[in-house]
Amino acid sequence: MKVRVRFAPSPTGGLHLGGVRTVLYNYLFARHHGGDFVLRIEDTDQNRFVEGAEQYIMDCLKWCGLEPDESPLKGGPYTPYRQSERKPLYKDYAEQLIDSGYAYIAFDTPEELEKMRAEYRRDDNTNPQYDHFTRGLMRNSLTLPAETVAELVEKGTPYVVRIKMPENETVTLTDMIRGEISFDSSLVDDKVLLKADGMPTYHLAVVVDDYLMKITHAFRGEEWLPSAPVHVLLWQYMGWKEHMPQWAHLPLILKPDGNGKLSKRDGDRLGFPVFAMNWFDPKTGETTKGFREMGFLPQAFVNMLAMLGWNPGVEKELFSLDELVQIFSMERVHKGGAKFNFEKAKWFNHQYIQHTDNAVLAEMVKPYIVKELGDGNMEIGKLEKVVGLIKDRCHLLTDFWEQGHFFFATPEIKELAVIKDKWNDQKQQFFTTWQSKLELLTDWNHDALEASCNELAVECGLKKGDVMLPLRIMLVGGKYGPGVFAIAEVIGKEETIKRIKFVTR
Ligand code: GLU
Repeated sequence: MKVRVRFAPSPTGGLHLGGVRTVLYNYLFARHHGGDFVLRIEDTDQNRFVEGAEQYIMDCLKWCGLEPDESPLKGGPYTPYRQSERKPLYKDYAEQLIDSGYAYIAFDTPEELEKMRAEYRRDDNTNPQYDHFTRGLMRNSLTLPAETVAELVEKGTPYVVRIKMPENETVTLTDMIRGEISFDSSLVDDKVLLKADGMPTYHLAVVVDDYLMKITHAFRGEEWLPSAPVHVLLWQYMGWKEHMPQWAHLPLILKPDGNGKLSKRDGDRLGFPVFAMNWFDPKTGETTKGFREMGFLPQAFVNMLAMLGWNPGVEKELFSLDELVQIFSMERVHKGGAKFNFEKAKWFNHQYIQHTDNAVLAEMVKPYIVKELGDGNMEIGKLEKVVGLIKDRCHLLTDFWEQGHFFFATPEIKELAVIKDKWNDQKQQFFTTWQSKLELLTDWNHDALEASCNELAVECGLKKGDVMLPLRIMLVGGKYGPGVFAIAEVIGKEETIKRIKFVTR
């Protein structure tokens, strides 16, 4: 049977690291087995719907290079791929469950539900659920006479359909990562399957659609584990048990200190992104930073995520997407949560920056430089040389401006005192003479510049070290950067002389 997997997000906001990792593991598994990767938008909860979130999710997948084979945009054999557009088909399945006694109709109003929760508050102070115990006290098709139910429905009284969870049954499922997991059915509430507006809830829709779309493997975050017994029973009650996908519940991505799930707030607090790309929330008007805008290469981001919860079984840590496809297996995914480490994420990015061809890297860095310079006429050949000179100092694409701004704009000399403290007539003479020599230099390149500098230093009775630091500060503005002659070569004769003159005039 052809492997078919799905990523089934609800379009409610930014795409968290954990979500992208779910996409990635689905993608790798599908490609490894020559299967299909489906993107299904689970937008049945109208209250949580956020404008723009679906497009954003698709853009994130595109940026990561993890594009689905079937999606709302691409279409496919099981269209539509947006659950809101599939609304009419779920009702029949809900009715089938009612007819077979596995589900029932409930008329309770929000006030009645509230009253029940208050009245039957448990000793441990947790709210009672709508379950095998309380259902008998509520207004539903199990407690009301059939004629009353028919009458209420006839009159258009709003109702929901709930699953009738069995009492004292052990529901088991075999998880590809965790092995066999058992649940006590008595502890699970009678989840709503179909809402009063006729929309299914996630529980009904996920089972119906995984069945109709012939999904063979369902991988999702560990936070969905408590819902699993409901889903297993629904597969069984619908008579589809032999078609049930194999499950894998992926471990959580934890805060850097390992204490709990990594949240957007941790990112804000600790200064790193948790979303794949910048997310603008239309409800709050706030923008949350993403890995892309922070200057991550998508390949590095994907490689880092692959290792967050999965172990390749070898020492190596750097893998291209194709290599990951070759070696990925769900059995090597850890059971325990994976701590997120931003320094390690930056290490991955640094490695990818090192190994990216300068011409390709220059195109990636260009928007960051253009943004700072406010000038779109950046010469790409020059940028290519610059990235080659400074890439070993950069962990993020945003670092290129900080490490290389002086190639594009005359720097402010922040360390003038360092030069002036040790300034003397000899140095003044050296630099003024060198300026005139530079005016006449015909081969403007690193080696010629170095030779001319060394020669003159000897003539002036100076050591090389005496002139290098002042020269660096003149050209860069501070005590950092790549080799000074390489810098001079790139910025050119006129600019080099101008920067020296600024100090010697
Ligand atoms: N719609 C669910 C979510 O938002 C999907 C969970 C699943 O994959 O079953 O994550």
